[in-house]
Amino acid sequence: MATPATIEKTRSSGWLSNLIHLVKELAKSMKATLPYLMGWTENHKEVTEEYPDRISARMPEDLPIRFRGILNNDISNCSGCKNCVSACPIDCIRLETEPGPEKNVSWVAVYDIDIAKCMFCGLCVESCPTGSLQHTRQYEGAVLHLRDMVYSFGRGWATSEMKEKWQSEQISKEAVDLERAKTRLSPVGSEFKRLLKEKKE
Ligand code: SF4
Ligand code: SF4
Repeated sequence: MATPATIEKTRSSGWLSNLIHLVKELAKSMKATLPYLMGWTENHKEVTEEYPDRISARMPEDLPIRFRGILNNDISNCSGCKNCVSACPIDCIRLETEPGPEKNVSWVAVYDIDIAKCMFCGLCVESCPTGSLQHTRQYEGAVLHLRDMVYSFGRGWATSEMKEKWQSEQISKEAVDLERAKTRLSPVGSEFKRLLKEKKE
């Protein structure tokens, strides 16, 4: 049977071994931490990224080649075809268009992606015929308010001045096209072309 003296001895040795263990573990962790704390980092490989740096120069290299980060739409190349909207399984994309300066290309007034809902599946990017919609290599998107996670790429609604300008440009373009077509088709035009060709020869 253990005597009180033996129990006391065991207790004190347990306490001592715990303390030794603690000091050893502390020394181990300080061995990794101290060089960073004191700025002696030449011989130590960094294992963490500084927050809130968006992406350090090294990070893009570390990411996989097909990494799908936060979406970006180069709106100048976006035709407003809405393929991406149809492809998105969770309706993250809001797209609103109106007639623009070019006949068969819509003016993308609103193009919002709710990144808070996005699951980075890439289906929208795959379906984009112009390649305007792309995943970036950016993954850091922390914001204070949920509403700030809606990324807007739209050009804004066209003003009446813009519409008038586009309309007059369209009318003059059509007039030029019509003239060209007439020249191509009319006998006078054909004769003129023949004479011009002869002159060159
Ligand atoms: S990546 Fe997927 S979830 Fe995100 S917007 Fe595109 S289709 Fe929708
Ligand atoms: S699929 Fe591409 S081109 Fe079509 S609306 Fe979406 S981003 Fe624009």
